[in-house]
Amino acid sequence: MTTSEPEIKVAGKADTPSADESAARSAPLGPPRGGAFLLDPVVQPIFTREKFSDEQQEIERMVLEFAADRINKVKDDLATPNEELSMELMREVGELGLTSIDIPEEYGGMELDKATSALVVEALTTGGSASWCVTFSCHVGIGTLPIAYFGTEEQKKKYLPKLGTAEYLGAYALTEPDSGSDAGNQKTTARLDDDEKFFLLNGTKTFITNGGWADVYIVFANLEGAGVSAFIVERDTEGLSVGAEEHKLGIKGSSTVTINLDNARVPKENLLGKPGGGMPIALNALNIGRFKLGAADLGGCKLVIGNATQYALERMQFGQPIAYFEAIRKKLAHMVVETYKLDAVIYRTVGLMDARISALGDKKSEPREIMKALEEYAIEASISKVFGSETMAYHADEGVQIYGGYGYSEEYPMAGAYRDTRIDRIFEGTNEINRMVIYGYYLRKALMEELPLRDAVRSWEKPQLSDDETLGWGLEALDAGRRLTIKCLFEAISLYGQDLRNTQIVGEDLADLAIQYFAASAAINRLLQQGDEALTDRTHRALRRLVVASYTEQVWRIVYRLRPTLFASSTAARALPSIDRELARLQLPFDPVQEIHILTDDLYDHGSYRF
Ligand SMILES: Cc1cc2nc3c(=O)[nH]c(=O)nc-3n(C[C@H](O)[C@H](O)[C@H](O)COP(=O)(O)OP(=O)(O)OC[C@H]3O[C@@H](n4cnc5c(N)ncnc54)[C@H](O)[C@@H]3O)c2cc1C
Repeated sequence: MTTSEPEIKVAGKADTPSADESAARSAPLGPPRGGAFLLDPVVQPIFTREKFSDEQQEIERMVLEFAADRINKVKDDLATPNEELSMELMREVGELGLTSIDIPEEYGGMELDKATSALVVEALTTGGSASWCVTFSCHVGIGTLPIAYFGTEEQKKKYLPKLGTAEYLGAYALTEPDSGSDAGNQKTTARLDDDEKFFLLNGTKTFITNGGWADVYIVFANLEGAGVSAFIVERDTEGLSVGAEEHKLGIKGSSTVTINLDNARVPKENLLGKPGGGMPIALNALNIGRFKLGAADLGGCKLVIGNATQYALERMQFGQPIAYFEAIRKKLAHMVVETYKLDAVIYRTVGLMDARISALGDKKSEPREIMKALEEYAIEASISKVFGSETMAYHADEGVQIYGGYGYSEEYPMAGAYRDTRIDRIFEGTNEINRMVIYGYYLRKALMEELPLRDAVRSWEKPQLSDDETLGWGLEALDAGRRLTIKCLFEAISLYGQDLRNTQIVGEDLADLAIQYFAASAAINRLLQQGDEALTDRTHRALRRLVVASYTEQVWRIVYRLRPTLFASSTAARALPSIDRELARLQLPFDPVQEIHILTDDLYDHGSYRF
């Protein structure tokens, strides 16, 4: 993390990278602090899919093949709960090692990096069964990782080899009828029975993914005298019963049930972690689930672009394919731009996590150290979840629109995508809760002086202004947005202090500024790292310009919303002239219409998303 004045990078003319940028591209990955992307210079060496190792590329090819040859062919059979087929596929991916990527080798796992675990989820999604992907993701994420990271030696030996091959299916039971977002308010109770050999669990868990088919549940309950604790509960536990399948809006082929615990007898040795240590387990598991959900959305976005492009090229109206109407071009170009950004967000995030884990050296196999390393990037994980689910929602919505009436028909792929993706904004922490995580962590890190926002605001010089229409312009716009975001955060923290947590209307806008900056800067760095082609080729230039155009549009919109809220206060209003100065740097020195044509012509030539 840079604690001194952030550097302003304005490249020279003709899209030529400066020496600094070239150095930044080749610099080794270091582990900056979580959230520090706002304080560090715009140009950063980041991990992207272009840096996949040979092994990662090989795994990606294998999973894409599996998705096309196996999942896609049976996707209609997975559209309603189908335990037999779902489990058959789970065991097949288990044989390929895909269910044990995060499991340590000593328990039979592959122990691969987070980038691999993200690319596997992304690639599986291209098979076209969101339901089955939810079954898979729940199992490998929240259903397994609590044991991998918090289990005792005996628990790991007993459960991980079976979870790693999908011989056992995992589930995670936190939500209750009266405890959803407010997860700490668990009504389910646990107490030791009289002979102190078993815990007796009583309560109801709702909306439990994989619940109808699972062999092992991670159950959270309020342990007498200790508070919320986690337990490993086996399916055949006396006193555990499974309710009927929920009738859901989407992901209808996944299992979602209520779990009833009526004096459920759980052996004492199945307490996971410490008595009263349940919430960190619950929240850390969700933290990992979040970047994986973003990765699944990334695969979904690419799928929608492919389908919508093909349809738009085939569908004739007014004597021409609808693809060539500007209203359709605009939608598809925006989809490509946002998907490119999402791709950069996901792999930037997992790259940070992997860099931090690998910097642990000898300690990198210690679960608690891994957890700490992952928690460091809670802001980035929440950004992946919010940006991923909302980008996917946009794709599904505009996908339906491009298909017109056929988009509303279950005979075509968009209706299913539209229904399936709606859950992504709700589970793994609703997007409201995840936005609270983003601005809550910034508040905490600023107050603890982990991120020196105050120093950044006080010490930086006036920015160099540039009307350079090439790369310099794009970086300058991002730099302006970055400064503006820091200023807004700083003003809000100065004005509200700890109460910012409850000032949600402002807080959500602050989170959005951080999300948009993280996404746009990830995409621009990804482009920069690709060297000359990305700097000179027409399509890449259009992509780059549209990334910045979409960023500037968002920032204008968010700051407009903050004027009557945050900046209505006379204290914060004093910052408005400097905010306006930064906004003035967010102008478009080109015609976006032309760039939209260039990007969509390229899309139509390729027939699908290609970056
Ligand atoms: C298909 C499906 C699968 C699921 N799988 C699982 C699973 O495997 N395991 C599991 O434990 N749970 C699971 N869930 C539950 C899911 O995680 C919860 O539904 C979710 O966390 C929201 O909780 P809730 O439904 O009680 O909504 P509530 O918490 O009641 O929220 C309702 C609304 O109020 C907002 N809200 C709540 N609190 C605040 C606040 N402090 N500030 C601002 N807004 C707030 C929310 O964002 C939301 O918009 C699943 C749910 C579904 C539908």
